[in-house]
Amino acid sequence: MTEITLYNTKTRRKERFDPIDPANVRMYVCGPTVYDRAHLGNARPAVVFDVLYRLLRHVYGSDHVTYVRNITDVDDKIIARADETGRPIAEITEKTTGWYLEDMGALGVLAPDEMPRATAYIGQMIAMIEWLIASGHAYAAEGHVLFDVTSYAEYGALSGRSVDDMIAGARVEVAPYKRDPMDFVLWKPSTPDQPGWDSPWGRGRPGWHIECSAMSHALLGETFDIHGGGNDLTFPHHENEIAQSRCAHPEGGFARYWLHNEMLQVEGRKMSKSLGNFFTVHDLLEGYWSGGWKVPGPVVRFVFLSTHYRKPMDWTEEKAKQARETLRKWAQLAVSDGVSPNGEPDSEVVELLAEDLNTWGAIARLEQLFDDDQREQLTVSARLLGFDLNEIARSDWAQPFSYETEDGRFYKEGIDYLPTVGVMAWGGVPDELRDASLGLVHRWLRYRREKDWARADALKAQAAQFGVELQATRSKNGVNGGLAHLSDTQLEPSKLDGLH
Ligand code: AMP
Ligand code: ZN
Repeated sequence: MTEITLYNTKTRRKERFDPIDPANVRMYVCGPTVYDRAHLGNARPAVVFDVLYRLLRHVYGSDHVTYVRNITDVDDKIIARADETGRPIAEITEKTTGWYLEDMGALGVLAPDEMPRATAYIGQMIAMIEWLIASGHAYAAEGHVLFDVTSYAEYGALSGRSVDDMIAGARVEVAPYKRDPMDFVLWKPSTPDQPGWDSPWGRGRPGWHIECSAMSHALLGETFDIHGGGNDLTFPHHENEIAQSRCAHPEGGFARYWLHNEMLQVEGRKMSKSLGNFFTVHDLLEGYWSGGWKVPGPVVRFVFLSTHYRKPMDWTEEKAKQARETLRKWAQLAVSDGVSPNGEPDSEVVELLAEDLNTWGAIARLEQLFDDDQREQLTVSARLLGFDLNEIARSDWAQPFSYETEDGRFYKEGIDYLPTVGVMAWGGVPDELRDASLGLVHRWLRYRREKDWARADALKAQAAQFGVELQATRSKNGVNGGLAHLSDTQLEPSKLDGLH
């Protein structure tokens, strides 16, 4: 059996992964808070842990892995959104959950086995809080219940901080009902117009952290294998989950391997609304972003996986364009003889993923399989990373001769709808070569409009010597135009500029 090694935040080193029960490998990942479209950063943990899920299913069998990713559908951000918009909470959370699943589906993220909603586990949360009070780890005060951090000696072990460091570093909320500023909320009171549930401490709602402790316990048990999330959650969220779960179930060990993905940036900067580089997954998929073109889901996924999950990842348009070209050429090879291959993925790809999810290495290996014309191995191994090359090959954007306009959009409709002038080639065309080719087409069309046929034919013949075929087109609405078909995308642009 393939040996998997994973970097465990808890021990700060790579460890061999030994599941408690190979017949039921259990993983919990903190999911979205559903009040708005997922931004690009939110998609990173979904994609990273999807690759791990796929690897675990490959190694242990698809019926032997249980993956739980929760949905936080009670939270102050949701309440605020309902207040701002006047829309009912249930409508907001339901709609946003649907969007999330749609967007993640477009990125090739498999649905986890369980997607518990926090509001369906309020009873379990109340029971856990009652037990924490009874065992001296929590106290009720002024309608709130707080976890007593001093009652858990190992508090801070995951992030490797002392309680003093945490007080100094974190913006801890000081409140009169807290015995210690580090104590965190398990339950809080709700006003009549806020969502609330009856509890021994009055009508109220849970604090954020308790939901993951209650739901992981209900669905995975006291001890399970892997817990994941973004590294912004290490403290306080995961630290608090550990404290709650270890104190409520001292006989259990809670999660054994803690995995955290690093954050995502955009063009070298933090993604933020004020910098104008903030976008949602949906914005990218639909072309509502500064680049203006629709970034296909598999392209987003490819860009994500080209950086190791424990490194900060920089989203750039350039990477997206390269990813698109790579996927396009892989997809064309995958369908080149019309038979969809089955079989085992390449063992090197599996080994690379098993080495703490070396997705970049796996992609490099896929590129090598492409270069070696290993159609079957490429197709099956790409599937393990979540790329269905057969499906990609059917997408408009992956057609071998896509029509690329000046602003980089692709047209699927075919020659009849083409705008006037364009460049066609296998793979990407460097900007300067594209400009030079467009210039050439424009000159050629001008000679034709002027009925200077001799000059037009001479230009066409010269262009052909550089492997550029000029073709006249006529669109459905009767506009005459032209295309340059490039056989060599490395051609020196100045060679075309020199032709008249
Ligand atoms: P939230 O909906 O804010 O609770 O976040 C959902 C998930 O997205 C969590 O696992 C976060 O760690 C993760 N996340 C949020 N922002 C980023 C980012 N910029 N890069 C990577 N992951 C992020
Ligand atoms: Zn959580």
